[in-house]
Amino acid sequence: MKYVLVSGGVISGIGKGMTASSTGLLLKSLGLKICQPNTTAIKIDPYLNIDAGLMKPTEHGECFVLDDGGEVDLDLGNYERYLNITLTRENSITTGKVYQHVIERERRGDYLGKTVQVVPHLTNAIQDWIERVARIPVDDSNEEPDVCIIELGGTVGDIESGPFIEALVQLRRRAGPHNFCQIHLSWVFMINEEQKTKPTQAAFADARKAGFAPDLIACRCEDPLADATIRKISENCHIAQSQIISVHNVESTYRVPMLLEQQGLLTVLKRLFDLESYPISKPLK
Ligand code: ADP
Repeated sequence: MKYVLVSGGVISGIGKGMTASSTGLLLKSLGLKICQPNTTAIKIDPYLNIDAGLMKPTEHGECFVLDDGGEVDLDLGNYERYLNITLTRENSITTGKVYQHVIERERRGDYLGKTVQVVPHLTNAIQDWIERVARIPVDDSNEEPDVCIIELGGTVGDIESGPFIEALVQLRRRAGPHNFCQIHLSWVFMINEEQKTKPTQAAFADARKAGFAPDLIACRCEDPLADATIRKISENCHIAQSQIISVHNVESTYRVPMLLEQQGLLTVLKRLFDLESYPISKPLK
C-alpha cells in the first residue's frame, strides 16, 4: 500500500482537499494501462464531533452524505467525484469517532487491564483504522486499492491534531521505505507585488518540529510562484526546488490536477514511490 499524506500549515481552507483529490487522480492515471492503480482516500478531521451531521453548514460547509448514509465532510465528495469511487463512513475519521472506538474497546476489556493511553493505544487505533480502511475496495473492480490518499484536516500545530500527527509519523515507519509520501500545503501571499515566504518557512519548521518530514511543499498562491520565491523556499526549508509546487488560483478547480502534472508531480511521486521502472504486468502494491 502506498500512502500520500496531505497536511497543511499557516491557515486552513487553502486547498488541502483539492490538492489531495488532484494528487489521487494523477496517481490513478499513472499511465499503467493494464494495471491502473486503484486509489482510495481517508479524511481525518481532528474535531470531537463523531461526524459532520450535526455541524452548522454556515460554519463547516455543507455536510456530504455518502451512499451508506455516513454524514461527512465535503472533501469526501471531492474524492468521490475526482477519483470516481464510492466511500463509506469509515473513510472519515474524527477525534470523536476514534476515541469512541477506543473507549468501547476499553469497556469490553480488550486492553486486558492496561492503562489506556493516547500513546500507544489511541495512536495504534488510528494506524490500524487507516490500514484497514485503505484496503476496502472503492470501485466496481472490487479490488483492494493500491494507493490511499490521507488528508489531515486543520493545520499542523493545532492542539487537537497531536495524536493524529504522532500516529501518521509512526505510520510512515510502519509503511516502510518508498510507501509513504507527504505533501505539506502552505500559503504564499502577496504584499506590494511581492510573494511572501515567511509563513511557509514557519509552517515547514512547525511540521518538522511535530515529527513530520514532508517530501513536497505545495504553495497555494494567487499567481504562479516566481523563480525567486521557489529558490527562497528551497534554501530556507532545505528542500529541492523540484519538490516545491505552485498551487496558484485557477478558474476551475478541475484544472488543479493538470496544474500539478505540468509541474512534474507525477515524476516526483514515481521517484519517491520507487515506481520509475514499474513493470506494467505487476500489480502495484
Ligand atoms: P481545505 O481542504 O484546506 O480546507 P479546500 O480544498 O476545501 O481546502 O479548498 C478551499 C477552497 O479553495 C475551495 O473553495 C476550493 O474550491 C478552493 N481552491 C482550492 N485550490 C484552488 C485553486 N488552485 N484555485 C482556485 N480555487 C481553489
